Amino acid sequence: MPIAFAQRLNQVETSAIRELFKLLGKPGIISFAGGFPDSAMFDVDGIRAASAAALAQEPGAALQYGATEGYQPLREQLAAFMASKGVQGVAPEGLIVTTGSQQALDLVAKTLIDPGDKVIVEAPTFLATIQCFRLYGADLVGAPIDGDGVQVDRLEQLIAEHRPKLVYLIPTFGNPSGATLSLERRKKVLELAVKYQTVIVEDDPYGDLYFGEAPPPSLLALSSQVPGSRDWLVHCGSLSKVLSPGLRVGWMVAPPELLARAVMCKQFSDAHTSTFAQATAAHYLQAGRMPATLANVRAVYAERAQAMGDALRSELGDAVDFVQPRGGLFVWARLTGAGGALADGNALAKRAIDKGVAFVPGAPFFCGAPDAATLRLSFATADVVRIRDGIARLAQALRA
Ligand code: PMP
Repeated sequence: MPIAFAQRLNQVETSAIRELFKLLGKPGIISFAGGFPDSAMFDVDGIRAASAAALAQEPGAALQYGATEGYQPLREQLAAFMASKGVQGVAPEGLIVTTGSQQALDLVAKTLIDPGDKVIVEAPTFLATIQCFRLYGADLVGAPIDGDGVQVDRLEQLIAEHRPKLVYLIPTFGNPSGATLSLERRKKVLELAVKYQTVIVEDDPYGDLYFGEAPPPSLLALSSQVPGSRDWLVHCGSLSKVLSPGLRVGWMVAPPELLARAVMCKQFSDAHTSTFAQATAAHYLQAGRMPATLANVRAVYAERAQAMGDALRSELGDAVDFVQPRGGLFVWARLTGAGGALADGNALAKRAIDKGVAFVPGAPFFCGAPDAATLRLSFATADVVRIRDGIARLAQALRA
């Protein structure tokens, strides 16, 4: 007899991207496919010093079971980190530490989504969120975006029409879109949360990765200016993209009644995030290393983003349309088909592998009808020379 798996698994397909990743092991491939930061940029010395300090100063706490809410010194450091970015009135008790922000998204889904509930997400949005919310039976509705993030007038219509359980947004340097929600639209989103009494989830793993001017303040920071909006806002943060994804340290700020339920669910899931990782992260932040680390990663990714943009313009010309990223890890591009070039992301991805370059087609990032001409290119892990080489290969694939 076959194993009788839970019905909920029928809501998620194994991702098309996974198939592509299998091909990445091919020797010599230049990959723009992953969502990873560059491991060559990890502050190994700083993390070594922080973990040594954790073991020297509080070995008991760092190696023992801990509170589900998180390691208190880390909660204090994270509250201070957010305060340094303009967030007012979030005490250490107003956040919980999660095992990556991915777990925060899972806890949001677990505490809020019943099968059949409507949930609004950007089109396109983070693939793992689509899959996670669907696992809980969410009926996803895509809200269109442009260069300034989600189109708020359309968002309001969709909220009024569907009365969703929650709206999930990546307002700053979205994955995959790279788009950043304008200040004006941010305020409007917070007003919509209050007007329609709808939970807004702000997923913000990329906000610190800006290249020139800082992006507008987070929805969480702005919520102090929009009365009542904090009662509807969930904010997910992460050390993954700036420090290390392997630490699995993320956090979540939410209204107290939601946070309490999330803690209950987390208790039955992983009991707590690794105390050793939390103590290490706490010492790292306390040692004051973050500003230098951020300056370093911003500078390196800025150079790579520029190199990728320049190469795309010179090698692909009008066959591709994109906005030069001002932060994050991704170029989101659209094939125009100009001059008879290929205009299908999936087909191009297959051809590109043959030419020795990999990227992720855009279609899987849409919860509804996909834009098949889109692609996501990560500039994070290849150096400038390989970026130029990879884009030249992409141009060959496009014209093959
Ligand atoms: N949200 C977004 C938009 C992401 O791109 C990622 C990582 N790819 C995550 C959440 C999860 O990151 P982590 O669990 O490592 O914090």
